[in-house]
Amino acid sequence: MSDNKTGKKRDYYDVLGVSRNATEKDIKKAYRRLAMKYHPDRKGGDAEKFKEISEAYAVLSDSEKRRIYDQYGHAGFNERYSAEDIFRDADFSDIFKEFGFSFSDPFDIFSSFFGGMGRGERRRARVNQDIGSDLEYQLDISLEEAAKGVKKEMIINHLVKCSRCQGKGYEHGGGYKECPYCHGTGRIQQVRRIGGFGRIMTSSICSHCHGTGRIITKPCNRCNGTGKENKREKIIVTVPPGVDTGSTLRLAGMGDYGRDSSGDLFVRINVKRHKQFERRGDDILIELPISFAQAVLGAEVKVPVLFGSVKMKIPPGTQPNTLFKLKGQGMPNLYGNGKGDEYVRVMVDVPKNITRKQKELIKEFDRLSNHPSLDENLKTRSKTKKPDSKRSHDPNLIKRLFNIR
Ligand SMILES: [Zn+2]
Ligand SMILES: [Zn+2]
Repeated sequence: MSDNKTGKKRDYYDVLGVSRNATEKDIKKAYRRLAMKYHPDRKGGDAEKFKEISEAYAVLSDSEKRRIYDQYGHAGFNERYSAEDIFRDADFSDIFKEFGFSFSDPFDIFSSFFGGMGRGERRRARVNQDIGSDLEYQLDISLEEAAKGVKKEMIINHLVKCSRCQGKGYEHGGGYKECPYCHGTGRIQQVRRIGGFGRIMTSSICSHCHGTGRIITKPCNRCNGTGKENKREKIIVTVPPGVDTGSTLRLAGMGDYGRDSSGDLFVRINVKRHKQFERRGDDILIELPISFAQAVLGAEVKVPVLFGSVKMKIPPGTQPNTLFKLKGQGMPNLYGNGKGDEYVRVMVDVPKNITRKQKELIKEFDRLSNHPSLDENLKTRSKTKKPDSKRSHDPNLIKRLFNIR
């Protein structure tokens, strides 16, 4: 509300020419008399005067606004109420009806007072965009699927456009009207007193219209006016080769439906643990048990790779934990930079139960070696720490070995 030229507002009671303890009836009577005189449509009318008395009447005819005005005066009142607020609930219709004016909505009469801000402009300024939420789902795939890429079926729950009203939210013949709770502003203002600090005005989104400032007439029977419905939907996700746990695929517009724009669907990939391979970026690692004889004599062994197996030569005298590299047998790089490698760690299988004959042969073998005698070796060994039989399955050890390749 623009103040008058001096920047000072006259007291509302003075404007209407009533006392501070005037009754509702007195106030109405006073306003009617002045309105007859100053209404701009009347001969000798005065728009500025009419505005002033109408504002005074709008405030004093509303018990809550009058109470605020009485308590805080103009300054305190204007902190809480905008120009629009002042006129919002005031009912001028029966007064104007007496004059033979056909104004039914006070805002229509007074909109010219608010710098020409008409209905449409108010609405456009307040409408909140309806943007659907993003959704996130996890998708479990195998290492082989991650290596080859895969089209995976997924069931998702998301909001889609209502199939009955096509997202409009209302039944045939319905539409929108201004929200009566926030009077089309989309916000609810509250004044709170804070002990010792005076008053603060808070403004929150109107819960009735969710900030849109309008509500639906004849809401859709299916979606209750939201324009949306929940849908359990089967979708196909195309997973590119080379993805790893934590890779996220974005399916634009597949999140929740929103009238202005829909959210996206984010699919977080989880590559399940493989029972043989351990993945290290684009490389994979496998443990391969070989026999003592194979380690000593050398051999050609079959090594599992991601898809099938390949032959690999073990040279004679291969030490336990030796790493061999199978070039290009790892995972494809997600960004197309070739392929990783497969590392093969040989585990020499030491037999636990041997026959008497095998025992003899081993002793014989030992006698022929340049090693210290088996008996001596046993003596020194008994002093050392007992080796951990689970050693070969210790994943940290594998990692350590792998890192120092
Ligand atoms: Zn509202
Ligand atoms: Zn609907």
